[in-house]
Amino acid sequence: MLKLSYDNGPLIVFWETTKACELKCIHCRASAIESRSPEELTTEEAKNLFGQLAQLARPPVLIMTGGNPLIRDDIYELIKSASSAGLPVAISPAVSQKLNQDSLTIMKNAGAKFMSISLDGLSSTHEKIRGISGVYQETIKAINDGIKSGITVQVNTAVMKINYMELPMIFKVIYDLGIKIWEVFFLIQTGRGSELLDLTPEEYEAVCNFLYDASQYNVQIRTVECPFIRRVLKERSEGKKCTSPIYRKLNEELVKQMGEPISQSTLGQRGTLDGDGIIFIDHKGTIYPGGFLPLPIGNVRNDDLVKVYRESSLLKSIRNRSFNGNCGTCKYRWECGGSRARSFAYFGDPLGSDPACILNSPVHI
Ligand code: SF4
Repeated sequence: MLKLSYDNGPLIVFWETTKACELKCIHCRASAIESRSPEELTTEEAKNLFGQLAQLARPPVLIMTGGNPLIRDDIYELIKSASSAGLPVAISPAVSQKLNQDSLTIMKNAGAKFMSISLDGLSSTHEKIRGISGVYQETIKAINDGIKSGITVQVNTAVMKINYMELPMIFKVIYDLGIKIWEVFFLIQTGRGSELLDLTPEEYEAVCNFLYDASQYNVQIRTVECPFIRRVLKERSEGKKCTSPIYRKLNEELVKQMGEPISQSTLGQRGTLDGDGIIFIDHKGTIYPGGFLPLPIGNVRNDDLVKVYRESSLLKSIRNRSFNGNCGTCKYRWECGGSRARSFAYFGDPLGSDPACILNSPVHI
């Protein structure tokens, strides 16, 4: 049994710097709006937040997300402030005119260590999802510009019905670009994502097994809202094979694109869950267990974030794996634990079972 130990502080803090964004991606968590809200945290309030986080024995990675963080005119000052306070800073900008070689150089000089760029498909699929013609080439340019600037670039991909069979080709594209971190998001029915059809548990299982294979090419594979990949990791390392025809197709395409595997799996055995290593602060300062779990547990304008993280009864239940249903008794609950956001979205219970996991699908119960 692997006991996670993020009781004293989060590993990663997501801060939604603004909800404003130029793009209208169909799966947007934030359901982004066109202009900035007057209720956003001010520069000083944000700096106060950085100060709280910097006091932790192990300062967390601060991910400045949005909306498009580059819409804030104080963004470089904020990166510098957080970085100077001792927080490793990552930024998730939208591909827009504000993201260019000049802005990347300023971000790098201000202390940004990581940048994530979303690539959700090959050319036409990516543009369909982003809702803008020509954005595929701009995305590739942004990735190359980021690499040139010296910031570590991570590519994010959201898995959906309309793109999951393209995953091997997307992987080949990012591998050839020289990307070393690929973060794959499994959808939660929230924001604009709720308009899309989710994958079935069988399809998710095939994708997890594909990601295990893809993790054997020296690229670090991370997932969001897909904790059961750690069950798959355990099963695969014990020799279990996936027999799904969907997996077989994904695997065949991967080998066609990439050749035979060249490394051990880069998947981490120790993961995070919403509230267990992860915390999310929205643009108004409201604290949530994660960006896809809309249960407010405080506000950084009035509350000490670290105290809320440590003392919230919901977060303690998540960290103690006090779950209802199958996830509560599953032998993989310490490594996995199921997506708390998906359990809430489907059942209204953040401590219920994750309906995307094949162990919770009717054929297995
Ligand atoms: S049943 Fe729950 S804890 Fe077990 S592997 Fe599936 S999602 Fe994870």
